[in-house]
Amino acid sequence: MDLAQRPPYSTIDFKALAKADSDFKQTWQTCSGKLDFQDPATLQSLSKAILRVDFGIELSLPDGRLCPPVPNRWNYVSWVQGLLDSSSPAYTNKYERERRVIGLDIGTGASGIYAMLCMKSRPNWTMCATDIDKTSFESAAANFAKNNLLSRTKMLQTTSKMLLIPLEILGTQQLDFTLCNPPFFIDSAEMEKSLNGEGKATGPNAICSGSSNEMICPGGDLGFVTRIVEESLVLRGKVKWYSSVLGKLSSAKAIVELLKSHNITNWAVGVLEPGTKTGTKRWIVAWSFGDLRPRHSIARPRGGSFPYDLLPFPTSYNISLSSSFTGSTAEDKLNDQLSALDLTWTWVPATAMGVGEASENVWGRAYRRAYERRKREGQVEMRDTIDRKTQLAFRVTVVQLAGEIVLEWLRGDDQVLWESFCGCAHRWFKQV
Ligand code: SAH
Repeated sequence: MDLAQRPPYSTIDFKALAKADSDFKQTWQTCSGKLDFQDPATLQSLSKAILRVDFGIELSLPDGRLCPPVPNRWNYVSWVQGLLDSSSPAYTNKYERERRVIGLDIGTGASGIYAMLCMKSRPNWTMCATDIDKTSFESAAANFAKNNLLSRTKMLQTTSKMLLIPLEILGTQQLDFTLCNPPFFIDSAEMEKSLNGEGKATGPNAICSGSSNEMICPGGDLGFVTRIVEESLVLRGKVKWYSSVLGKLSSAKAIVELLKSHNITNWAVGVLEPGTKTGTKRWIVAWSFGDLRPRHSIARPRGGSFPYDLLPFPTSYNISLSSSFTGSTAEDKLNDQLSALDLTWTWVPATAMGVGEASENVWGRAYRRAYERRKREGQVEMRDTIDRKTQLAFRVTVVQLAGEIVLEWLRGDDQVLWESFCGCAHRWFKQV
């Protein structure tokens, strides 16, 4: 399987894993096919086998440190890949093999798992990794070395007083993304409660072998990610995407509220569904000061458990085609309309897909009239030499089979401009 685009996990086929990995086979046979998720050795055996078989990663862990469940970790990395791929300045919405990306794993832990998954799956990605815990830091370094990833990693042991995103000390001007799985709990009492399954219908999940610095920090997950938000308000565009897992829905909601209160309009919410018996539902929140918009399926989680008013504005808009549009008539109409406007429009017939870039509302009646007049007077070429800033970039796809046109918002800060363009395109296809 192509690791660069490996899909997220939904379930694990333990039987197949036992066949593929001799160490895990022993675990599987010893428990007669009934894995004991309360047993730390079983969990280690499982994580190590998945990493080995699915990613070619060898993991070692010191005693008393968290053993990361792989599906949940990979699903976050896979989501971050989708976030970056769909907000690439090249508007490709796919994995660009040549694109160099640099990320930061805040609190990489004894496993260094996020950094390793990122680098193993994307050969052109490099990673910075920090941790405040000496044992974890050294163990992560050993894992990077064992997997030949040390040369692609910048490691920094920090302290709890230092910045969470210490760009200067890392010696890097900018980052493409940060990711983080923060300590979730405020104190040991809150941790005990949660681990005992209080308030959960299903009771406790897998055993947690974490040490206190892995599990507890001032303010819990909300406190930790609030610090990342505060640092982001200073660093702004120096990091393209800031992101973190949040352990509680209430914390994820509070972070989005905080982003909104600072007028940050470009954010995305993801969900990590457990899939297996060993997991708990988690949330991901990412935000950017840039104007590149991630694709709809990344920015807004499926299912209704996240409050509507805290979801980012939809970045896609579908127009159903009436039956009067057959074959290529929709494509022709689209091209006619867009080619007549004062914007850059690039259409690729083979994929029935085009990208447009507009410097303002060029589809409005007044603008169109003035543009027509300038064209008649031969003044248009002159304007083409002026470098105009793109205020809205969009992709249009004609999906013949579904009988619809899909508009996607690729770039721009102005939600009203995007909505106005969607309304205009909608009218083109209602009129026939
Ligand atoms: N990323 C790993 C570990 C998560 S546990 C995983 O997903 O499995 C949280 C980690 O954050 C711990 O290793 C802890 O030592 C580290 N940590 C806590 N406070 C930190 C801080 N202020 N800066 C950097 N890392 C920190």
